[in-house]
This record gives sequence, C-alpha cells and structure tokens, in this order.
Amino acid sequence: MILIIGGGLAGMSTAYHLGDREHLVLEAEAEPGGLCRSREIDGFVFDYTGHLLHLRDERIMRLVDEWLPGTFAEVERKANIRSRGATLPFPFQANLYGLPVDVVKDCLVGFAESLGVALPDDPATSFEEWSLAVFGRGISDAFMLSYNEKLFCRDPKEMTADWVSWAVPKPNLEEVVRGALGIENRGMGYNSKFRYPVDGGIGVLPAALAERVEHMRRGVRVVEVDLDARTATLDDGERLSYDELVVTTPLPGFLDMVRGGAADYASLARRLDWSVVACLNLGVDRAGIADGAHWTYFPDPEVPFYRAGFPSNFSTTVAREGTSSMYVEFGVRRGAAFDSERAAAHATDALHREGILEPGDRILVSDWIRIDPGYVIFDRDRQEVMEQVVPDLKSRGVHLIGRYGAWTYSYMERALLDGLELAESLR
Ligand SMILES: Cc1cc2nc3c(=O)[nH]c(=O)nc-3n(C[C@H](O)[C@H](O)[C@H](O)COP(=O)(O)OP(=O)(O)OC[C@H]3O[C@@H](n4cnc5c(N)ncnc54)[C@H](O)[C@@H]3O)c2cc1C
Repeated sequence: MILIIGGGLAGMSTAYHLGDREHLVLEAEAEPGGLCRSREIDGFVFDYTGHLLHLRDERIMRLVDEWLPGTFAEVERKANIRSRGATLPFPFQANLYGLPVDVVKDCLVGFAESLGVALPDDPATSFEEWSLAVFGRGISDAFMLSYNEKLFCRDPKEMTADWVSWAVPKPNLEEVVRGALGIENRGMGYNSKFRYPVDGGIGVLPAALAERVEHMRRGVRVVEVDLDARTATLDDGERLSYDELVVTTPLPGFLDMVRGGAADYASLARRLDWSVVACLNLGVDRAGIADGAHWTYFPDPEVPFYRAGFPSNFSTTVAREGTSSMYVEFGVRRGAAFDSERAAAHATDALHREGILEPGDRILVSDWIRIDPGYVIFDRDRQEVMEQVVPDLKSRGVHLIGRYGAWTYSYMERALLDGLELAESLR
C-alpha cells in the first residue's frame, strides 16, 4: 500500500500515475487541490493569489490538454514594476528607463563592474553575494535585494541563492543598455507567456484531476507517522499501514509528527524557515483596472505589499461585468502578528497613491487569504537539514515531493511532474 498525504496537485498526480498499484490519498480538506484551488465570492473568482500555468514539459502539456481540452488560453505576460514613481516593464534589470537618472547610472555602472566577476558556484553563497555578482550593486539595491527582502522577510545576507538561478534571467550588457535607453526587451524570463482558464479560476485544473483519482479520502488529517511500524494515524484515531509513504504536507509539520526512525526530527524541523503570504483580494466597481496589466512588483519600502495582481485582466470571466478584481500580497515573518484591518487600510492608501485605485472607486468585495507556509526560505540550515533528512527518510520508504513536502521553490507543473516521476519509480 502506498499512502499519499495531501490531495494537492503533487499528491493527486502521484495517485493518477500509480494506476493499478494499490494506493490511497489522504486529504485534510473537504475539497482537494491545495494551493491550486479557487474560491468564488459574490461573483468574483479568486485563486490563492495569482496562479498562472507555465508548461514546458511535453508530458504535462499532453495531460492538461487531455483533461481539459480547449480550457486554457495562452496569454502574453503583461507584468511591470512600480518603483520611485516610474512604471517599468518586467524584468527590472532589462528595463531601467524611466527611473531617476542617478538610479539608472548606479545600475549601469554596477552592472558593468559585475561583468568581470565570476559567478559563485559555492552552495553557501549568500543571496546578496549572488545578486551582486550577477547584477552589481545598483540593480541589487534598487530591486533584487529590496524586493526579495519584502517577499521573504529575511536578510538577503542570511539566505542562500540555490533557489534562484533558474528563475531570474541574467541580461547581457546590450540588453541592460537598451533597457536603460528605453528600448524595451520583451519576452525575457521563464514566464513570458502563461496559460490561464478561459472560464473560471485555476481551480478547474485540480478539479479535473480529482475526477480521475479514485482512491482518495477527504476531510482526514494525518496526525502521526510511525517510521518503524510504517503506520500513519488519522485525526479520528484510525491507524493505516503503508509500504511506501508519499509526503506533500509541509516538511516542518511532517517532521514534528514523526515517531521512531534514527534522528531527532523535531529538532531538525525547528531549523527550517519560511515566510507567510497574507493576500488581500479585492473586487472593484470599475472595469479595466491597472491598464490591463497582469501583475505589478513593488520593491520600494514605502509600499507595504510586494506584489499586486489583476485576475480580471487574465480572464474576464473571473469578475462581474463592469468590475475588476485584484490581489495584494504581503510578506509576513512567520509567527509575527499581522493586523489585517490596518494592512487593508495601508494597502488601499498605497493603491490610491500608485494610481491603481482611482478616486470614486468602490470596493465591492474584500477578502483575506493566509498562506502559511508561503515561501520556503533557502539558507544554510535548510541545506544541512535536507542533506540529512531526504536520504534518511527515503531509506524508510518516505518520499518528499511537491512544493512543501520537498520544501522548495516550486510551481504547478513541477508538482504534477513530481507525482509522475515518483509514481514511475514506485511502479
Ligand atoms: C503565493 C503563491 C503564488 C503561486 N503562484 C504560482 C503560479 O503563478 N504558477 C505556478 O505554477 N505555481 C504557483 N505557486 C506554486 C503552486 O501553488 C504549488 O507549487 C502547487 O500548487 C503545490 O502543490 P502541492 O500538491 O505540492 O502542495 P499543496 O497545494 O500545498 O497541497 C498539499 C495538500 O496537503 C494537504 N494536507 C496538508 N497537511 C495534511 C495532513 N496532515 N493530512 C492530510 N492532508 C494534508 C493540504 O490540505 C493540501 O491539499 C504559487 C504558490 C504561492 C504560495
């Protein structure tokens, strides 16, 4: 028996690909899908902040087309950055034009100086050192370090860079100079196009997968795992035996519920760190918000959130006619108090200052979502814990997959692939 903890994309993909091999998915919530669900409030459909599908793997493309033929539209990204009164196309480093000239000068000089610097390949390199080597001082201070500190709520000197190299495009000198002169560099980065459902939110994806997963129990939470006896205990006291255990639940919580084995798993759990995302969803009584932008990054410290996105600009079906929707994302240090009423007031002030909300706009819907954990923090402790825990648990038949089981920076396609690849190896 293969027990799978969690019916998000990773857990359900494992089950789907296991086929006839005996398995069971245990999902704590009544509705499977995890972070990839959508929720509808008064005619507005919100995802768990923006969830845009980026597909590169042929096998996953084929599956999504098979499960949901004609459901996804391919959309060209319209993302920008608001900084120091200017609106720049994404990515920052290749579109400096419009910033104050002294900032552009510092960015150009710093980037030119960084050209001779070898890229660090030591895994212990801090995120700050990595950013300085790749982009130089000016771009690092104006965007890379300030934005990521807001997102992760940790000092970039204390974080490592092992999550980032694939996701952040390094421009060449010509691209930086073109961007500084106002010649736009379009289509850079891993996400220059995305897919989004023509009708409804991203929740259509896990819903289609759930229809194809036969062996799933919903509303059951795993509360204890005995590594020696190979049993999982549910919140109603029932105990289930397994040969292999697939874990997609957040790793620190899993390590806390483990009994037996050879390590002090609870102490290892305490060395893992993460940030929380507090997301304010808004419905606004005006169509065409933010000039059709899909999302905007806010690196400056005066703006309390790090990003805002506009789902009604991905698909008109997620908002009522004549209205717009948006989500505003705050990074919160884990364990820290967060006053959502004050945050909402600060957010609306900042949205007015930035010209996203206009005088006379009425908020029709206001709704908070808390994602905890939100972002895994990569640091030396994470590296050491993962080096110990992954092989140790694997040798006991426990497989860590998905964004939070593998405790990594990951995305929907990767969650589906994690399930596919693990199922292939277990079959
Ligand atoms: C703010 C934010 C924005 C994102 N934007 C994008 C994007 O634009 N594009 C993209 O591709 N990806 C995005 N992602 C990542 C994407 O959401 C995830 O990679 C993917 O949905 C993770 O799926 P998963 O199955 O690994 O985990 P989850 O979705 O977290 O699923 C885990 C499941 O386990 C269940 N569970 C937890 N504990 C237990 C327990 N003890 N017992 C039983 N069940 C349990 C949970 O209820 C949940 O259903 C974003 C993530 C965040 C946080």
